[in-house]
Amino acid sequence: MRILIVEDEHKIANSIKRGLIQEGFAVDIEYDGTGGYDMATSEDYDVIVLDLMLPGMDGLTLCRKLREGKNHTPILILTAKGALQDKIGGLNYGADDYLVKPFAYEELLARVRALTRRPQDGGETILKMNDLELDSITYEVKRDNKSINLSRKEFALLEYLMRNSGKILNKDQIIAHVWDYDADILPNTVEVYIGYLRKKIDLAFPKSKSLIQTIRGFGYKISI
Ligand code: CA
Repeated sequence: MRILIVEDEHKIANSIKRGLIQEGFAVDIEYDGTGGYDMATSEDYDVIVLDLMLPGMDGLTLCRKLREGKNHTPILILTAKGALQDKIGGLNYGADDYLVKPFAYEELLARVRALTRRPQDGGETILKMNDLELDSITYEVKRDNKSINLSRKEFALLEYLMRNSGKILNKDQIIAHVWDYDADILPNTVEVYIGYLRKKIDLAFPKSKSLIQTIRGFGYKISI
């Protein structure tokens, strides 16, 4: 899952980024509204965390322009304490949720998580395929009732594949949702991580059906 933070207070933006990266998200930051709008329209994000008082373009305008341009990425607005007008304005302009500053980091994480589980995937927190189970709240992955240890990136990749199960995902789509803009991506990065996952998810369970498939020339999919 890839998140864009648009927030001009560097301290807040950087601490949100650190926290989200620890949870396995890929995160980009823009410190002004114009840059935020450019990134939001050129990259494919799963959630945008948007401050309202921004240099360049204010948050409400940014939100309205995205929705007018048929960009439906879920938006979590950060508002100053007591600015009820901001909240109403934000929701009117198509934001999905709002959070009043100062906020507890756990609260932000819960809201971001909730937005990544919006209706397109039925809002499930536990994803299952045959005997494979992924819990997106506790970060536990099990197969055949045995726990599997995954790195953060492996977990993020598996969650992305499972939320799109049955669909062929090409490398660019996978990179766009699992790695951030500044990540060092080599031509074989996706293959390498798919290889790690396959070892832990499929090869370690020879009695179970292999779930991760390579579609030559197109990409990868996970399906039953
Ligand atoms: Ca601000």
